[in-house]
Order: sequence, then C-alpha cells, then structure tokens
Amino acid sequence: MTDQYDLAVLGGGSGGLAAAQQAARLGAKVVLFEPGRLGGTCVHVGCVPKKALWLAADLAHQVELARGIGFNVSAGALDWPAFVARRQAYIDRAEAGYAQRLVDLGIRVVRERARLGSDNTVSSHGVTVQATHRLIATGGRPARVDVPGFEYGAVSDDVFGLDRLPRRIAIVGGGYIAVEMAGLLHGLGAEVTLFVRGDQVLGHFDADLAEALAGSMRARGIVVHTRSAVDAVERRDGGVLLRTSGERVHRADWLLWAIGRVPNSEDLGLEDIGVSLDARGHVIIDPYQCTSVPGVFAVGDVATQPALTPVAIAAARRLVERLFSDADVPPLDLANVPTVVFAQPPLATCGLTEAQARASWGDDVQVHHARFRPMREALAGDAQTMFIKLVCVGAEERVVGLHVHGPGADEILQGFAVALRLGARRRDFNETLAIHPTAAEEVVLAG
Ligand code: FAD
Ligand code: NDP
Repeated sequence: MTDQYDLAVLGGGSGGLAAAQQAARLGAKVVLFEPGRLGGTCVHVGCVPKKALWLAADLAHQVELARGIGFNVSAGALDWPAFVARRQAYIDRAEAGYAQRLVDLGIRVVRERARLGSDNTVSSHGVTVQATHRLIATGGRPARVDVPGFEYGAVSDDVFGLDRLPRRIAIVGGGYIAVEMAGLLHGLGAEVTLFVRGDQVLGHFDADLAEALAGSMRARGIVVHTRSAVDAVERRDGGVLLRTSGERVHRADWLLWAIGRVPNSEDLGLEDIGVSLDARGHVIIDPYQCTSVPGVFAVGDVATQPALTPVAIAAARRLVERLFSDADVPPLDLANVPTVVFAQPPLATCGLTEAQARASWGDDVQVHHARFRPMREALAGDAQTMFIKLVCVGAEERVVGLHVHGPGADEILQGFAVALRLGARRRDFNETLAIHPTAAEEVVLAG
C-alpha cells in the first residue's frame, strides 16, 4: 500500500524546510523530497556564501579606513583557500543542523527529485507516496540566454566554486546579483566591468537610490557601462572577449552572467495535473499560496512572489499554520517588503519608489532627502557618502517608502520597516529622538 502523509514537500530549501518543520511541530505527518543539499540556494549558492564574501570585502575596506585614520595596516590579499574552508565549515554546520532537526521532528527525507501525479501522489525514482497536501518549493536557477559564446561565461553558482580571485572580471546584468558580485569581487581586489542593458543599475529600484549606488560603484573604481548589451562572447588567450551592442570590444579573464533566475517548474508533472504557470514558468499562486489545483500549494522562488529567503520562509510557515492549526492566519503582507542589496556599501529599501508613489498619488507625494559623509568616512578621508530618501504621501505625510544607501544601511533598515508597516508619518519619524552621533539619526531628522 502507498504510504500516506498529511504533507509532502518538494524541495529542501528555505521554503520547503520551513514548511516541513512547522507542519511537523503542529503534529502533521510529513515527507520531504530533496535531491541536493539541505538548505537549498540560500545556504549553498546564495545569501550565505555571498554574505561571507561580502563581509570579507567589507573588512578589506575597513582596513583601508583604519589606515586612513592612522593605523599602520594594510589588508593584503585574501587567503582564498583558508577563507573558503571557513565559509564551508559554517555552511556544513548549518546543513547538519537542518538534518538533525528533520530527524528530531520525525520528518521522512527522500534524497531524490520528485514530481506530482494524479490521486494526490508524489513520486521520485524509488518512492511513491500519497499526501493530503502537496507543496511545491523547488526554487529557481540562474537564467541562460541564447548569446553566441554564452557557455564561456559563468553563473552565480560558479562564484562559490572559484579557487582564486580572477584578475579582470566582466559581469553582465544590472540586478541584485550583478551589483552584489561587482562590489564584493572588486572589494577583494579584482578589476570589474559591469555591462547593464538598461539605463541604470537596479532598474526597478528608486531612481535616485540607483543613481547614488552607480555613483559609489564608479567612485570605488568599478566600470559601469549602461545601455550596453553583450551580443557575443569569444574565447581569447585563456580569457574571454565580449562584443557589445555599442560595438565595444572588451577583454576579461572571467565572465559572469547575472541576468536573472528562472523557476524550477519543469518535470514536476504540473501540466499533467493542471497547475497553472505564468509566462516565465512561475507557479501562479493566490495570497494563500494556493495554486490552481486544490491541495497543491507553492512557496518561494518557484512561485509568483518576491524571490527572497524571508518571504519563502514566512509564506511557508503561514501556509502550514493555516493547514494544520485552528489559527486564522492572514495572507503574507507583501506591501512593505524590506530588502537589502549587499553592494559596497549596501543599499536598503522598503516600500514604494518615488515613481510608484507618484503613479498612485500624483502631486500628493512629498520627498525628503539627506546626503552626507558619515563620520568614520570623513575622519578617514574617504569620499563615500550616505544617501537617504523618504517618500511620503498626503497631508499627514505617511511614509510609504524609505531608501538608504551607504555604510550600515543593511542594519539600519530593519527597525524602520516596522515603522512603515505600522503606517508611521514623517512627524512620527521627526518626533522620535535621534541617537547621536550615528548615520541612522539622519533618517528621523530627514527633511
Ligand atoms: P531554494 O532554496 O532554491 O530550494 C529549492 C530546493 O528544491 C533546492 O534545494 C532544489 O535542489 C530542490 N528541488 C528542485 N527540484 C526538485 C524536485 N523536482 N524535487 C525535489 N526537490 C527539488 N535572498 C535574500 O533574502 N537575501 C539575500 O542576501 C539573498 N542573496 C542571494 C544571493 C544569490 C547569489 C542568489 C542566487 C539568491 C539570493 N537570495 C537572497 C534569494 C534566496 O536565495 C532565495 O529567495 C531562496 O533561497 C528561495 O528559497 P526556495 O525554498 O524557494 O528555493
Ligand atoms: P534581477 O531580476 O535582480 O536582475 C536581472 C538583471 O539582468 C536585470 O538587470 C535585467 O535587466 C538583466 N537581464 C535580464 N536578461 C538579460 C539579458 N538577456 N542580457 C542582459 N541583461 C539581462 O535578477 P538577479 O539574477 O540579479 O537576482 C534574482 C533574484 O534573486 C532577485 O530579483 C532577488 O529577488 C533575489 N536576490 C536577492 C538578493 C538579496 O536579497 N540581497 C541577492 C541576490 C538575489 P532588465 O532590468 O533590463 O530586465
């Protein structure tokens, strides 16, 4: 007889693990299918190894600042193998923790790829189960394009397999990954050139914020070409030669394609059972994570929701609480998703861009800026500035967008995201006592 479960989860990444664990805590009988490493993209080829590289690059910059204020130090080159070993040990510990928690919670783990079938089944190569609820949490992977010579370049997964830092790096793309990799690889000592096909980096972010970032990137020595599509790549002298739309020719030792990600929604049997996909292959979900087929749900990067780890985890937890408890769990509020691009220095944003706010409120939008040199940078003689922008609406100036670029922006935003969620007005910001001397105080003083 086929084994019966309350919940079958496809994918042991951020979303799948969160769902499986929370469901088991609520008493559900759970099976999880995962062919790869527990933790998925975030832990193995995403947030975690990326942040480790970012931290290393940030430390190198801080050594420069220390030198600027009078310490007789220099960062020197990163001992790459030693760094990779430390990073891997950190990741291995995290993965071991997940594996142990699954055991402790009595979750069955099948280390195979699975697909959905009729009659509520989920099948892998060797195992078929039936489950009342089935969750698609299969994530995504780097996009590829039909450009001649594409294969001579790498994708973000490959960054984490590098055994040394390439000297001259070309990066194609202008989104999160392109910007983050450009900053940290440059911060670690590479010469980086970025090819952005649009008018600006981070085309979907607030335009002033993106401009501030582009200014910082250029000031630190990253070459940014906008309106520059790469049409062909050739192998040349152990490296690559890029041909761009502007008839520019560029040589590099290593090329990174950072041109978006595609959902892992193929070969899951979705078409056969009637699960609807959007034009880019994402599983279409409603605010309750329901797909077009009753009893089949989706969370995370495979679904039509922001591709961020906390979104996948929160959506997964809410879903299973809805399924396996009596709690009345509202849908995930995606109105004020705080997000950080780990550029050098970072960029943090929550809520609406000015353009989005004006599209809804027109002239009833007020914008307040602050631009200044943080004290540490000023002391060290570093030109880096901090940029803060508040987007407010209506007579009471409700803050609907906060955009920050500069040192510490990543750590500043989280608390202000609570304020935006609670509907804070500019007056609430201004009446909050500043913490002096900090960079964050300029957010409450802004305007
Ligand atoms: P994943 O974590 O990708 O997990 C999906 C799992 O499903 C995988 O383990 C896969 O092996 C498995 N799978 C695939 N097919 C099947 C199948 N048929 N059957 C069973 N299992 C299957 N987000 C942030 O919030 N902050 C960051 O700083 C950040 N940095 C990032 C940096 C990079 C370079 C990248 C690529 C992403 C980053 N992200 C970041 C995004 C974040 O990693 C993802 O949003 C998150 O990992 C999505 O989780 P998920 O569970 O949807 O998918
Ligand atoms: P993004 O969607 O952020 O950016 C993709 C970039 O590639 C855009 O600049 C896009 O340009 C460009 N592009 C797309 N196709 C082509 C092409 N054929 N040629 C040239 N350029 C092209 O994707 P990423 O891969 O950077 O990141 C994927 C997602 O992962 C992010 O959206 C984010 O949700 C998540 N992530 C989160 C991070 C974080 O939280 N810090 C870090 C990394 C990833 P255009 O705008 O013109 O379409």
